[in-house]
Amino acid sequence: MAFVNGLKCRECDREYSSEALNVCDFCFGPLEVVYDYATISEVISRDSIASGPLSIWRYRDLLPADSEHPVDIMAGYTPLLKAHNLGKKLGLKNLYIKNDSVNPSFSFKDRVVSVAATKAVEFGFDTLACASTGNLACSVAAHAARAGIKAVVFIPSDLERGKIIGAAVYGPTMISVEGNYDEVNRLCSEVADNYPWAFVNINMRPYYAEGSKTLGYEVAEQLGWRLPDHVVVPTASGAMFTKIWKGFNEMACLGMLEGVDSYSFGPDQNTVHHPAVTTKMHMTQAAGCSPIVTAWENGSPHVMPVRPNSIAKSLAIGNPADGIYSMRVINNSAGTAYAVPEDQVVPGIKLLAETEGIFTETAGGVAISGLKHAVESGAIKPDELTVVYITGNGLKTQEAVESVVNPLTVKPFMSSFEEAFNHRPE
Ligand SMILES: *Cc1c(COP(=O)(O)O)cnc(C)c1O
Ligand SMILES: [Zn+2]
Repeated sequence: MAFVNGLKCRECDREYSSEALNVCDFCFGPLEVVYDYATISEVISRDSIASGPLSIWRYRDLLPADSEHPVDIMAGYTPLLKAHNLGKKLGLKNLYIKNDSVNPSFSFKDRVVSVAATKAVEFGFDTLACASTGNLACSVAAHAARAGIKAVVFIPSDLERGKIIGAAVYGPTMISVEGNYDEVNRLCSEVADNYPWAFVNINMRPYYAEGSKTLGYEVAEQLGWRLPDHVVVPTASGAMFTKIWKGFNEMACLGMLEGVDSYSFGPDQNTVHHPAVTTKMHMTQAAGCSPIVTAWENGSPHVMPVRPNSIAKSLAIGNPADGIYSMRVINNSAGTAYAVPEDQVVPGIKLLAETEGIFTETAGGVAISGLKHAVESGAIKPDELTVVYITGNGLKTQEAVESVVNPLTVKPFMSSFEEAFNHRPE
């Protein structure tokens, strides 16, 4: 069973029992999971984690769902690679890639959906649903198939083909909405009020978001229970960004890190900052949809919604739910935020592919070009241990890199091959 006391409003501290609810009845603030950390600290250890499954469920003690029967298609436990070639190109000696593009449905969304789907089954829902920018639809459809429940996925109609097919193949009911993600989300909020469905990122959102903490835990574990000096994270709603930070702080507070003493979580668990957590959190968005970066640059206390127009469709959320909270994480961690110019997204994809053999989607292009900027601006120093999160797979956004396709076409004869090969363009 999960070590969860219930839910709590981030704004007014009102407490709720564990139910399928994401906003406070009182002030409309977002609800977050409250853990029983005293008990967790008694049961969790590096050994208990190491003996767990090779998925996010190895961190079951810190996830808010019934870990005896998880809906598990083996999300997580993805590779952390030392990036020698890319590091050399950028001038970094200690660069690592957290390659989450190799998850079962090919994005980090499997982490959050595995938790939400498990919780949905626990609550007795028979339908899993979502408002998606693309990858979420794929993951919801996949996990619903695994759980043997129905799926209804809502997507913007202008989505990349790879994401439409990558979701449809699992057999969900797919609703293609003629509008952008924020309009899809608005519609889904209304649907969620009228249909008894588990919308992973609406009424299940408090549980769903917790799944991203595992991106923090895994990096700590894979670095030998240390934290990086810097992380670079492609961001849409800001949920993943805040949860990576939370994951790092939980590891520190529970005394899991090398040479770090445990520490009280204090009254507001969700904003705890262990003094030994010195990782700087760098946020990257694409310039065509960068409301959080803009607010951070202006020092504004509010995130002004924008109308997205970006090649990075998986990051195209104009009204980000966790915008304010992710700005606080940037500031508390002494991090930065950067809007990658639209014409630098594809070069980021190609740079990663050509140096490290990893084919990422447009969000990954935003991450890599954002990393490059952070190095060039001096925010990241050559010796500092840096992790860049690659959150989605390039086979889903093939349209973006169509121009790389330029084969030498030859007849099936040696002479034809040699003629073409010897005159190939540089
Ligand atoms: C959804 C998504 C993100 C952004 O996640 P948020 O938690 O909404 O900030 C980043 N990368 C990929 C590939 C995604 O699908
Ligand atoms: Zn409230």
